[in-house]
Amino acid sequence: MTGGADEADRPSGWWAPWALPVLHAPVRDALVRFGPDGTITEVRERVSREQACAMPGVEVFDDAVLAPGFVNVHAHIEYAAYDALVDGLRFADWIGDHIQRKRRLAPEHMRASALLGAWEAAAGGITTVADASFSGDAAHAVAEVGLRGRVYLEIFGTEKEEQQIAGVLGRIAELPDAPLLDYGISPHAPYTVSERLYRLVAGTGLPWMTHLLESEDELRVLRAGAGPLVQGLEARGLPVPRWGGSPVERLADVLGPHVVAAHLVHATAGDIEVLATTGTVVAHCPRSNARLGCGVMDLAAFERAGVHLAVGTDSPSSAGPLDMFDELRTALQLHRAYSRDAEWPTAARLLELATVDGARALGRDDLGVISVGAAADVVACAIPATSDPTATYLLSGSPQAVRATLVGGRVVWRSDRNALQAARARAAEARQLLALPVRT
Ligand SMILES: [Zn+2]
Repeated sequence: MTGGADEADRPSGWWAPWALPVLHAPVRDALVRFGPDGTITEVRERVSREQACAMPGVEVFDDAVLAPGFVNVHAHIEYAAYDALVDGLRFADWIGDHIQRKRRLAPEHMRASALLGAWEAAAGGITTVADASFSGDAAHAVAEVGLRGRVYLEIFGTEKEEQQIAGVLGRIAELPDAPLLDYGISPHAPYTVSERLYRLVAGTGLPWMTHLLESEDELRVLRAGAGPLVQGLEARGLPVPRWGGSPVERLADVLGPHVVAAHLVHATAGDIEVLATTGTVVAHCPRSNARLGCGVMDLAAFERAGVHLAVGTDSPSSAGPLDMFDELRTALQLHRAYSRDAEWPTAARLLELATVDGARALGRDDLGVISVGAAADVVACAIPATSDPTATYLLSGSPQAVRATLVGGRVVWRSDRNALQAARARAAEARQLLALPVRT
């Protein structure tokens, strides 16, 4: 490596024994060059380490793979301080616990937790985050760390819906106007949001994100207006939405490629058909679904139907840290066990879901790949020697193995800097408050 700190943060290229373009076969002894406009200008194979070392501004990563940064299509980064806090709660009880703990946090605690989440994402090779944010702090955190993001502000409600829309649009207008960031709205879920509010959100023309058909507890609300979620809503004096059918079918005319729907664990064949024909993006979040005992989404049925699938880490409160490697390995293990098929899903298909398919979910064909003209959003991750770098990357990768993360040609994360440690220290007070016991 030559040059000073500035040059190191804007490298002219990276070299590694392997690169994973995603849409093409792995590249051996790969040189990936970056232009001053933050795009990839060259992808060359069979470049020796010695040749790369002689090139000005080219950084050499031995024993590593270069891969496109992950596109995490459903996250809640502001809950990073919740990681590994509670366990063994069913869905409705987990939500109740989450809300009670959140009430203890002052705005500065939520900001610190969101910033921790953004640093965790960068450290884990996530370069683009589509985030459902209650507080809006995710926007500030993503901008501060230098990630790409789309932040969907969360709304809840079954009455005064026009006021909700006016309020959320006003809040979006006050969030940072950053070049790598845009906005949407997240009507939370059918058990907290009326059909009317969903339709008003659709009428704004902004992209939107929601949770759909996640748990048995949600199904009980939708089918019978009953169950523990209803008790929780009534305890807080909130009206219970009435749906009279599947929310997927009820909302079919406003769904589309601009909508990210997370979970769909309990989708029927009819729901899957609607999601496929409308081009709605389905965010698969297997860790959260497994840990909360919600079930396993039928990935094979969604694939067969041609649904636009992508992957999200969901909330650290229910799923653990913002770790796409862990999310993908969970998907690989669950679906192979469930289908009794060692060949499906392949590591290559899972990597597509977490990169190029996630990018398309946000309307971006210039992200999630390593190819000339694509954005220079690239991760250098250490891997052991291999002749199958895609499998080895997925099976051995971890945030601890990520050496550097590049967004738009700029290094936002290096493993030898202490940004994550500093963010953890800043969020320590939030964690202390969250960790106090909840009275039942
Ligand atoms: Zn979620």
